[in-house]
Amino acid sequence: MEKQTTIGKEVSVSGKGLHSGKFVTLTFKPAPEGTGVSFRRIDLPGAPVVKACVDNVFDTSRGTSLKENGAEVRTVEHLMAALSGMGIDNVLIDINAGETPILDGSAKLYVNALREAGRTEQNAEKKYIELSDTIRFTKPDNGIELMVEPAEKFSAHIEVDYNSQVLPAQQAEIGDISDFAEQIAPCRTFVFLHEIQFLIENNLVKGGDLDNAIVFVEQMPDAATIEKLSKFYNKTDIKVMENGVLNTLKLQFPNEPARHKLLDLIGDLYLLGAPVKGHVTAKKTGHFANVEFARLIAENAVSH
Ligand SMILES: [Zn+2]
Repeated sequence: MEKQTTIGKEVSVSGKGLHSGKFVTLTFKPAPEGTGVSFRRIDLPGAPVVKACVDNVFDTSRGTSLKENGAEVRTVEHLMAALSGMGIDNVLIDINAGETPILDGSAKLYVNALREAGRTEQNAEKKYIELSDTIRFTKPDNGIELMVEPAEKFSAHIEVDYNSQVLPAQQAEIGDISDFAEQIAPCRTFVFLHEIQFLIENNLVKGGDLDNAIVFVEQMPDAATIEKLSKFYNKTDIKVMENGVLNTLKLQFPNEPARHKLLDLIGDLYLLGAPVKGHVTAKKTGHFANVEFARLIAENAVSH
C-alpha cells in the first residue's frame, strides 16, 4: 500500500511578492494525514486557514489565487507545483502576507526547500484522482484544449503558441512526476517587452521587479527605450540577443516557456487535492482554463 506523506521538518522560504512588492515569509510545516495542503495567514487576526483546493479559487487573472473565510492567498501555482512534484500530500503553510514570494519566477527554490525538509511517510493510504473516462475542456474561440485520459500514473504534454516570431509554437512534456524537479521546476515565467514597456515607462514597476521573468522582444526597441531599460534593470549592456530574448536572463532550455506553462498546469491541477492518474494534453492553456478543467475533473472523478 502506498502511504500519504508530509515533510520531515519545518522549512521557511522568503522573498518579494510579485504584485505587492512586499517581503513575504512562508514556513512549510508537517501536517496530519488526510489534511491536504492549507495556508494559514499568520499576519491576520485569528490566523485564518485557506485550504488549497479548486473550490477556493477566486481569481485567475495574474496567477491562481485562493480565498476562504475572507482571507486571500495569491499566486499559489508555483508552490503547488513544487508540492506535487515532490509528492507531498499534507502540509500546513504559515504565511505572513496575502501573496507567495515570486522568488526567481520558477519553482526551483520551493523544490530545494522541500528537499531540505525531507519527506515522511504517514499511515493512511495515499489518495489519487482516478477517472473512468476521458475528460475534455475546450474554448474553441481561443484555441484552448485540455484533455485527460485515464492512465496508471500522471503524465502530461503541453503546446503553446503566441503567434510570435521570437517565441514560436513549442511543446513540453513530462513522462513521470519524478522528472519534475530537474526538468520543469527551474523553468521561469516569461513576458513580452510590449507587455511591460507601459509599466516601465510609467514607473509602475520598480527595478528588480522583473529579474524573475524572461523577456521576449518582438519589435527591436529604439535607443531611447534601450536607455530606459538600462536604467530600469540597472545594467549598462542591455541588448536583445539573437533569439529575441532580452539579455537580463538566459534561457535554461530552448522550450523553457512551454515547460513553465507545464509547471503552472501541474500546480493548478494539484488543487484537486491529490495526483491525477491520467495523461493530460493541453493546448494554449492558462490559469483560467486550468482551473475550469480541474473543476470538471473533480466533478467526474471516480474516487479521491
Ligand atoms: Zn507561472
